[in-house]
Amino acid sequence: MSVSAAFIDTLRAEVRALPPYNAGLSSDYVRMRHGVSRVAKLGSNENPRGASERVLNELARSTTASALALYPDPSSTKLRQLIGERLGVASDQVLVGNGSEDLLAIAAHTFLSPGDEVVTVIPSFGLHIIYPQSVGARVVTVPMRADFEFDVDGLIAALSPRTRMLIISNPSNPVGTALCLADMARLLAAVSPGTLVLWDEAYYEYAVGEDDYPDGLALLQASGLPWLLLRTFSKAYGLAALRVGYGIASDSDLASLMNRVRTPFNINGIAQQAAAVAFCDEAHVTASVLDARSGRGYMRAALVELGYRPARSLANFLFFNCDEDASALAAAMLQDGVIVKPWREAGYETCMRVSIGSAVDNDLFITALKRRRSI
Ligand SMILES: *Cc1c(COP(=O)(O)O)cnc(C)c1O
Repeated sequence: MSVSAAFIDTLRAEVRALPPYNAGLSSDYVRMRHGVSRVAKLGSNENPRGASERVLNELARSTTASALALYPDPSSTKLRQLIGERLGVASDQVLVGNGSEDLLAIAAHTFLSPGDEVVTVIPSFGLHIIYPQSVGARVVTVPMRADFEFDVDGLIAALSPRTRMLIISNPSNPVGTALCLADMARLLAAVSPGTLVLWDEAYYEYAVGEDDYPDGLALLQASGLPWLLLRTFSKAYGLAALRVGYGIASDSDLASLMNRVRTPFNINGIAQQAAAVAFCDEAHVTASVLDARSGRGYMRAALVELGYRPARSLANFLFFNCDEDASALAAAMLQDGVIVKPWREAGYETCMRVSIGSAVDNDLFITALKRRRSI
């Protein structure tokens, strides 16, 4: 028995019951463990194009000995101003987090109390469930439909005046489908005034040009509800290592509460500078999105040819039922240096999510899938 076992027994049951986050493996680990020279890291939806040249130049410029010695701006003033101006909101409605996952944690701590009810979907982005549970909230999950589209009626039926928070990612991670404008409006119209809507647009940049993808910000603004919209620099901007996400709150009072909960220096100074440059480099985002779109078409066609039916995707990944134990299949594919994300939530253990990578990595994935699948 460990020294702390008796102590741990006295802690909150919600904390002791938390599942670990199913984070992806690193390339180094797979390279060493399986002795492969090239790793196709397709488990975490990162941008194969990487960060933009302008960001690299900015990092070189701003990473000086004296800059590293100073505490960063605790308010990320410049970055919040840029975001506020582009989105047409007041900068005091804008929050920055150490990744948007930081903002998810801050939102859970700010808005949820033990016993509160949260409504979200399944399959889900793990942290949409783990953070609410960590503060003692009860999470009600509404399954996506069999075609992996959102079950709007099911979500509406699950909502009640007791619901404290509704959490949706649009496009959905892990599935990739998105609510259209009419469905988003219908869903928001069913939300009670005492419910905060947490709208996670981590894949906004990929979806924004697509048919019928709603202007989430405008619909939230029109809803009259309390809400928090989240976006991130980790995906289309290619900055996952730097950890910067941002949120827009329905009003500055909500943002101010969250600011009191977060750690004061949650965004490091180098990341603040780099994110500001990245935010202005729209050409890099556009090129990254075009890459993802053509890679997605290629991967979809290859999967369909193998007999799979990947869900519709407006994002930089595809989700499909592989009709066998996805964890076992993903483990076998590691031998070919291919990392994908097998789904672990109950009822979805035969599903897998694969990120759209470079052309070479996409081919490695298809080859490994053909070789390792058992059907
Ligand atoms: C990737 C992702 C995030 C978190 O991204 P950060 O790297 O923490 O900014 C949040 N929500 C969803 C749905 C995601 O897929």
